[in-house]
Amino acid sequence: MPTKTLRLILGDQLNHKHSWWEDDPSTFEVLMCECRSETDYARHHIQKVTAFFLAMRHFADWLRGEKGITVHYLRLDDADNKQSITANVEVQLRRGSYHAWAYQLPDEYRLDRALAEFAVKANHSHSTADTEHFLAKRYALRDFFKGKKTYLMEAFYRHMRKEYGILMAGSEPVQGKWNFDHQNRKSLPEGERVPRPMGFERNVEGVVAMIEKAGVKTMGSIDASRFIWPVTREEGLALLDHFAEAHLQKFGPYQDAMKRNEWSMWHSRLSFAINAKLLDPLEVIKRVEHAWQEHPDAAPIASVEGFIRQILGWREYMRGVYWAKMPEYAGMNYFGHERKLPEWYWTGDTKMECMKQAVGQSLEHAYAHHIQRLMVTGNFALLAGIHPDEVDAWYLGVYIDAIEWVEITNTRGMSQYADGGIVGTKPYVSSANYIDKMSDYCGSCFYSKSKKTGDKACPFNSLYWHFYERHRDKLEKNPRIGFVYPTLNKMKPDAREELMAQAEKYLGDLDGL
Ligand code: FAD
Ligand code: SF4
Repeated sequence: MPTKTLRLILGDQLNHKHSWWEDDPSTFEVLMCECRSETDYARHHIQKVTAFFLAMRHFADWLRGEKGITVHYLRLDDADNKQSITANVEVQLRRGSYHAWAYQLPDEYRLDRALAEFAVKANHSHSTADTEHFLAKRYALRDFFKGKKTYLMEAFYRHMRKEYGILMAGSEPVQGKWNFDHQNRKSLPEGERVPRPMGFERNVEGVVAMIEKAGVKTMGSIDASRFIWPVTREEGLALLDHFAEAHLQKFGPYQDAMKRNEWSMWHSRLSFAINAKLLDPLEVIKRVEHAWQEHPDAAPIASVEGFIRQILGWREYMRGVYWAKMPEYAGMNYFGHERKLPEWYWTGDTKMECMKQAVGQSLEHAYAHHIQRLMVTGNFALLAGIHPDEVDAWYLGVYIDAIEWVEITNTRGMSQYADGGIVGTKPYVSSANYIDKMSDYCGSCFYSKSKKTGDKACPFNSLYWHFYERHRDKLEKNPRIGFVYPTLNKMKPDAREELMAQAEKYLGDLDGL
């Protein structure tokens, strides 16, 4: 009589603290698999595929070594790998002696559906478990905003602060404020030294060779002799400590600053470790809150609150939006944008210095920080009217931390406003002014930041006004868009026509920029 359960673990379910691992190891076995279904649903960065496979392998070793659990681990090149998660579960269920199987609820809609459909067809009974990772339940945000058109992140964030007692003094926020952002988001002063990113030097040539031999189509580059991303829980914790001790002080003030050839500034680069669930979001939040409690000079409240808001606020919020709005969300295209992504998003080969920097480092490191994603690459895609499907495919592939629940809500929602204002109250777009204020990119650019029209005029300038002009019907009445339409209306007709013609010229040859 079979007595064991087969438990499936997906590549982003590497939660060491899950209650499953406290159960008697003689009562269950674990299945983990590296599959083509996962490497091929998007064209991923080579560092992303490598990081997931390595993290999975280390996790399987931990389950075996620390917990005494039997793990069936299928590598991508194993002969009996069926290359699909459900097919591998089916084979293992037939092969072993199990009375049931179980899985943790996936964070991605595609896998959630696939596993639910498979469960109906499978001959074994099944059960599901929570991943025990997020701080809000899957549908908590939907219920919180029931009946509302816009989901205001700030309201949800305050609710989460109270619920978890983070940065609270009784029922009030510490120091009487929910938000200290007026002290943050500064541009970088001349001479400020940017820290070197901390890395974990690991030789990953074997895994990379396996991925290449299998013919997986990837993008970007990798230095396989010294792979720097954290792929174990210990490494994730070490990176967290390093951030809390060495980066936190300046994280807030320079959170939005950008500098040529500096790819991570004071950002934590914890997103992969958190999204793979090697780190628990609450432990990250508490570590940073503790740093402030112990050493408020080295970890000032503005930085600490700003960082905690990203995880307790934005991250939980984005996941909630995803589950409240999928699957419709993936098809939203509010502006009806149709253009293809320019070729240089895949090569970095453009004359626009800001794009060359942001795209270039994304391809080199599988990473760009938030403002580069939002106000450089995302800003350009929105101004240029790129189809959100194209934009999503790029973001989902290129970043080490990209998993659909957090990628699509940030890209289609926050960055492309393709959801018509569920996530953001207005589109995040800017001309060269903002990029110049927050970076040193414009100084080395082929284009002139101050020119709107004519030879070498910065493309962001004319495209910015063209964007607002072509979407007048959708945006003119938005109260958050203050000066734009009065300024457009006051422009002399000749000047406006010249500006629109300049934008049309650029739109006609995006690949040539
Ligand atoms: P830090 O700046 O150090 O921030 C700390 C943590 O806060 C991050 O690790 C992350 O867990 C969380 N966080 C910060 N901002 C957000 C946000 N807007 N939404 C959710 N969590 C947030 N983040 C992803 O994890 N995966 C993605 O695929 C992704 N795609 C994005 C696409 C676009 C167009 C934009 C504008 C943002 C995207 N983000 C995504 C959010 C954010 O840019 C990244 O989480 C962040 O840059 C990761 O780097 P970090 O760990 O150094 O972050
Ligand atoms: Fe980017 Fe324009 Fe500045 Fe060049 S001038 S870096 S294209 S904003």
